[in-house]
Amino acid sequence: MSQGHPRPQAVGTTPIPSPATALDFAQRLLSWFERHGRQDLPWQQETTPYRVWVSEIMLQQTQVAVVIPYFERFMARFPDLASLAAAEQDEVLHLWSGLGYYARARHLHRAARRILAEHQGRFPTQIEALQALPGIGRSTAGAILSLALGQRQPILDGNCKRVLARCFAIPGWPGSSAVLAKLWALATALTPAEQTAQFNQAMMDLGATLCTRSRPDCGRCPLADCCQALARNRVHEYPAPKPRKQIPLRAAQLLLVQDPAGKILLRRRPPAGVWGGLWTPPELTLEADAEDWCRSQLQASVLRLEMLPPRRHTFSHFQLEMRPLLVILASQPQRISEPGAVWIDPLQPGILGLPAPIRALLNTLGATTSSEPLRVSCSGSHAAAEVNSQPLAPSPTESHPNTAARKFRARKRQE
Ligand code: SF4
Repeated sequence: MSQGHPRPQAVGTTPIPSPATALDFAQRLLSWFERHGRQDLPWQQETTPYRVWVSEIMLQQTQVAVVIPYFERFMARFPDLASLAAAEQDEVLHLWSGLGYYARARHLHRAARRILAEHQGRFPTQIEALQALPGIGRSTAGAILSLALGQRQPILDGNCKRVLARCFAIPGWPGSSAVLAKLWALATALTPAEQTAQFNQAMMDLGATLCTRSRPDCGRCPLADCCQALARNRVHEYPAPKPRKQIPLRAAQLLLVQDPAGKILLRRRPPAGVWGGLWTPPELTLEADAEDWCRSQLQASVLRLEMLPPRRHTFSHFQLEMRPLLVILASQPQRISEPGAVWIDPLQPGILGLPAPIRALLNTLGATTSSEPLRVSCSGSHAAAEVNSQPLAPSPTESHPNTAARKFRARKRQE
């Protein structure tokens, strides 16, 4: 079952643990895992490469408790690689809706099709071949091969990075390439040839349950005797945080165009980029005129404009302030000039990939009638897993889309 791996080299000033130290480290972890490790998670049953792969991708940036129901729904619909490869991307994104980081789902789907086409539907068992697939990095490839096939492959997810940075007092932010190289060298030296799957699972479990980011429980930790950060009483200094960088704020109007039958217009976003491939209402710059847009794009006139409370959504590299504007059409639209557009019942959008904040907005919209005042909230069940999306109090100083609604009313009064 186990495979040899290259002898680790010392990196920078980090000494590589001796074989005796590595053995002691592994034994401590393995005996702790036997008594306290998590052994009944859904992806720990029938540990095929496919199931481990899907779980590892879902667990990136997302906690176990959030992932479990998504994993179970995903497996019920796509029990194997062939069923995932045969699916439409919309259905994959639909099942991912609320997990966030949708590029993960698109990569998963593309990788399934590549495995089918290039590897006759069998999971590659070489780490290089796995890493060549979309969305599979070194740690995910190591997890698939070690957890499902027992290969001797180290892993280095966020939990492992934190445990190693503390235990060996590695300075610096783990996202930098120099620190990452040190952590990989440590992980490689410490990963045992036997019981690799249990060892890797134990590293992840220790980081998730005891060596947590803000409240490490060192008193119950099997590594307490050899932890250098604890010995120096500097646990909270490791790992060093990511250097702070101000992320830009962008603002856009989100047009909730409603036809006389109560249907809402959605358009599919381009395949790459933010919310790539998902369905959202049309997004306009703050300067754009919603009424002009409806005239030119739909050949429809507007009965009423209603501003809804703005919402802010945080992506990894910027914040988006969405300013939803309900646009009630006076007549049935004649056309939409772009492909990839649908009119949906906001309460029953069907099998479409929707970002969680958009789903929450549609739920609220669907729960009201066009004659009632609209209130938007973010309490939808999917919203919790989405990256930090919050409603904002309307600001009296904001010029858009208040301005659009005001201009519209003034125009109507003149007519
Ligand atoms: S002793 Fe504390 S800081 Fe060190 S590895 Fe254990 S939980 Fe983490």
